[in-house]
This record gives sequence, C-alpha cells and structure tokens, in this order.
Amino acid sequence: MQKVILNNGVEMPILGFGVYQVPDPAQCEQSVSDALEAGYRLIDTAAAYFNEEAVGAAIKKSGIPREELFITTKLWIQDAGYENAKKAFDVSLKKLGLDYLDLYLIHQPFNDYYGSWRAMEELYKEGRIRAIGVSNFYPDRLVDLILNNEVVPAVNQVETHPFFQQKVAKNVMEEYGVQIQSWGPFAEGQKNIFQNEILAVIGAKYGKSIAQVILRWHIQRGVVSIPKSVHKERIVENFNVWDFALSDDDMAAIATMDIRKSEIIDHFTADTAKMLNGWKIHE
Ligand code: NAP
Repeated sequence: MQKVILNNGVEMPILGFGVYQVPDPAQCEQSVSDALEAGYRLIDTAAAYFNEEAVGAAIKKSGIPREELFITTKLWIQDAGYENAKKAFDVSLKKLGLDYLDLYLIHQPFNDYYGSWRAMEELYKEGRIRAIGVSNFYPDRLVDLILNNEVVPAVNQVETHPFFQQKVAKNVMEEYGVQIQSWGPFAEGQKNIFQNEILAVIGAKYGKSIAQVILRWHIQRGVVSIPKSVHKERIVENFNVWDFALSDDDMAAIATMDIRKSEIIDHFTADTAKMLNGWKIHE
C-alpha cells in the first residue's frame, strides 16, 4: 500500500474506504468488513454519518492489529466549540470502540471551529489523536485557521474528482504543507462519470475500469481518496489499482474534464450554511 507522509511525520494510506450514506448498521459493518478483507486499512466515517458503531464493530471483528489501521472520524457543526468538541470526541471514540484516533477532522467550516481546533490541538498533544485536520475548508478559511493557530492541519478533505480538480485549493494546501484528501472521488456518480468516454478510452488501454482509472488519477496527483461502495465486487475492484500507471498523456486528457465547480454542494451560499447548520445529529 502506497502511503503519504503527513506534516507531522505520520504515515497515511493513499487509498481508503468511505462510509457516507450507509446508515444501515448491518450494511455498513459488512461493507467495512469487506473493505478490510480486500486490503483497505484507512476507514473514513463521521459522527454525522450515524455509523461509527458499525465501523467499530467491523474493526473489532477483523482482528487486524490496531496499529495497522488508520481510522478517521469527524466533528459535526452542532458540536463545535472547545467544550463540545472534547465531549464529542469522547462520544465518537466510544462508539468506535477505540482508545485513540488516527485522524480527527472538523467536518465543516461553520460554527465555533476555532474553539474546536483548540480542543483538538490539546487532544493531539495528549496523544489521543495522531493527526488533526479539517474538511471543506476552502483556501481563505484554511489559511486564516493556519495563521491564527499553533498546529497546522495535517489534512484537508475536500470534494475533488475529474470534474472538480481543485487546482488552486490544492496548490494552497501544498504551499502550507496540508495533505489534500478527496471526498466524492467518483463525483458520487454524477454527470455519468462511470460512462465517461475519455475515461473509458484510457481504461481500455490498460484493461481497467473507469473507477480504477479515476482512483489511479487521484493517486498519481498525490491525492488521498476514500471511495465508497456497498458492493463487495466494487470494493475489491476499487482496491485493485496498484498494477498499472497512467501516462502523462492520460493525465493531460483527464485534466481537460475539469469544470472547476461542484455540482454536489456549493459551500459559499447562504442556503448551504443554513442547511448544514440545521442538520442536527443529536438532541
Ligand atoms: P463517491 O465515492 O465519489 O461515489 C460513491 C458512488 O459510486 C456510490 O453510488 C457507489 O455505488 C458508486 N461506486 C463505487 N464504486 C464503484 C464502481 N467500481 N463502479 C461503479 N460505481 C461505483 O462518493 P462519496 O461516498 O460521497 O465519497 C466517498 C467518501 O468521502 C464518503 O463515503 C465519505 O467517507 C467521504 N465524504 C466526505 C464528505 C465531507 O464533507 N467531508 C462529503 C461526502 C463524502 P454503490 O455503493 O452502490 O456501489
């Protein structure tokens, strides 16, 4: 498994498994078990996915030594702020059945995330989290957070895929030593990505599927990705990407697919801020 080295020296697998929109506990547990069996070691969940317990159950059943795993969860907007973040961290850890986390992310740049970051800096220094980071922080918020705090986020998990390549945001992250991680590596299937002609032609050259071409493209850009699937054959397929490499011409062809905007969510609108702040995960 290829790894990236984060800005604090911690190693992170470049390919992992995500469990957003898998609220059914049995299905989530089975998918994570299938992923671990296929060889994935990075699992990405969040308090707001309502499946940390199922992820924890699969981890426990796997019998894989804890130090071989890289487990990420995320702090939700409702739990922002110094005190709340500390409590939410304990709740997540308990649900996962773990005594430390590999990566804890601020899920969204809303509410009192400065307070959250101070709590996370403390938890990190106490050794309860190996790396701390953020998600959906666009360049202005990311740089502001970095300039006004001690610990630089190790990771920023943002939407990125062939239709939204995030070249500017990626450059900013590189400048500040923040590892980019892709959510929605397949654009959540939008815009018929799994039928895309450019990707199909490239895949045919190597005997690889469109999904495998996309994941290879992320890897070769140095982007950590966490594809989600609830189908075992796809989970295995998505991990089978180590035996081929895209050429410079392939990378250049995929570069032309960038429409430089999201068709999933726009973080810069009032409606998005209102919608995400209204998403409650507990009483
Ligand atoms: P995604 O991974 O881009 O796409 C998932 C979709 O692709 C599902 O419909 C899945 O269907 C399908 N799929 C997977 N492998 C396939 C294959 N080989 N062939 C054809 N179809 C395939 O979308 P995502 O789940 O939104 O993103 C991945 C992870 O990123 C999430 O699970 C979550 O951990 C994280 N995430 C984070 C944020 C954030 O705000 N930080 C937001 C969204 C997601 P089946 O499941 O039916 O196979």
